[in-house]
Amino acid sequence: MEYKIFLIKYAEIGTKGKNRYVFEEVMCKRMRSRLKPLGKFEVRREYGRIFVEALSEYDFDEVIEALGTVFGIVGICPVCVVEDVTYDAISKAVCEYIESEYPKHDFTFKVNARRNNKQFPKTSMELNCDLGADLLNRFPTLTVDVHKPDVLLQVEVRNVVYIYSHTIKGPGGLPVGTNGKGMALLSGGIDSPVAAYMIAKRGVLVEAVYFHAPPYTSERAKQKVVDLAKLVSKYAGAIKLHIVNFTDVQLAIYDNCPHDELTIIMKRIMYKMAQELALANDCQCIITGESIGQVSSQTTQSLYVIDQAADKLPVFRPCIGMDKQEIIDISEQIGTYETSILPYEDCCTTFVAKHPVTRPALDTIEKSEQALVGKIEDLYRKAMENIETINCW
Ligand code: ATP
Ligand code: MG
Repeated sequence: MEYKIFLIKYAEIGTKGKNRYVFEEVMCKRMRSRLKPLGKFEVRREYGRIFVEALSEYDFDEVIEALGTVFGIVGICPVCVVEDVTYDAISKAVCEYIESEYPKHDFTFKVNARRNNKQFPKTSMELNCDLGADLLNRFPTLTVDVHKPDVLLQVEVRNVVYIYSHTIKGPGGLPVGTNGKGMALLSGGIDSPVAAYMIAKRGVLVEAVYFHAPPYTSERAKQKVVDLAKLVSKYAGAIKLHIVNFTDVQLAIYDNCPHDELTIIMKRIMYKMAQELALANDCQCIITGESIGQVSSQTTQSLYVIDQAADKLPVFRPCIGMDKQEIIDISEQIGTYETSILPYEDCCTTFVAKHPVTRPALDTIEKSEQALVGKIEDLYRKAMENIETINCW
């Protein structure tokens, strides 16, 4: 069957009371922008429902894939529309729908009718019984199962009639742009793109920062981060990626601080820079990809010490309680995994000590950082003043 209309289902937005229409409008805007390259579509709100109508030829799979990236959507239902709101026309359309969608007539079904148009002479209950009987007459091998049907046939009688039975799962969450903005520390790894995705899924606009250390980290490593930002932008919308040249700061840390504390001190300075960038760009949070215990700089003690460096903004770490495999599963599902595993160096791994501290104490680290006073300020400023920004989408 060729569908012209999709009914869009959402869940959490429905709990937003008076603000609900704001959330719906933001979601519709995202849908329009994702559908734009795929043909001519109308996205409209109607009776507390959202519909997508195709006004030109389109590719079904492409449309489903595009809608599958719009946070807020929990289900996409391809709908068959009957303009003639009479019982005979509905019954005929229901039989044709089953014939075309389920050619093997060996399943159980239930009709779930809803009469929103009170002018229509039959009640919802009567519609359920009569349409069910018509289907059994037409396809005698079908059986009714009102508890666990294989096919739940939805029939909605409004100013037109909608018939549907398939729900394709959407990503859930809240529409991006309904919940402030965050600055994601995006490395080329597996975890941080997943973290950015997960926070965007809660409606947060995402910008990103990557700390680049040429020539220790290559152009290919940088391009990989741009590519990852583009992949996440399918869901999160265009991502402004700020690229900080971190080399001189990193060399100063390397030359002046104990090597077993390098990673911790480096991370603290990254967090400071990220916080400054976040505040300058109206972000209310920092987003990172850490998970407790994954590496030495992600023990609880290390995270505590690193966290103190960002003293003005909360740090959101959506992967914090996840196992590596759980993070990998999400990265595969959102399409970042293949890019994340490309073997390019990261500045954190280039300058890593053989035996990094796993239980740093804040005062020890702060003492070590004293060695940077008078040496790092200009380098820090220079790095912050020479940021390259790329719009990724
Ligand atoms: P990922 O898989 O995200 O790279 P990771 O397991 O390699 O994470 P770390 O290298 O300890 O972990 O980094 C922890 C977090 O710090 C990352 O998830 C990321 O948010 C941030 N980060 C690390 N390196 C960089 C970098 N070069 N630029 C920006 N952010 C970084
Ligand atoms: Mg990494």
